[in-house]
Amino acid sequence: MTSACLTDAQLARLRDSAPGEAPAELAQHLATCERCQSRALFGAARPAGGKREAPKMPSLKRSLLLGALVGFLVELVLVGAAVMN
Ligand SMILES: [Zn+2]
Repeated sequence: MTSACLTDAQLARLRDSAPGEAPAELAQHLATCERCQSRALFGAARPAGGKREAPKMPSLKRSLLLGALVGFLVELVLVGAAVMN
């Protein structure tokens, strides 16, 4: 098990991976870690000068997106685990 949070590079790798090709360890961590989920959604490094509307509360749209992402990742992990066993 990985206990440390994902790096920016790992998050980018997850997002760029095709379904089924994402590293299972990374996907598994993301599926269980709220912090990394929001980082994956909103970006880890926020541009310093480009601050516009930064809602504190996630909008409904983003909540749905997050739910879809997590569901997708959980499925990814399950499929990956099935393939490896
Ligand atoms: Zn994390």
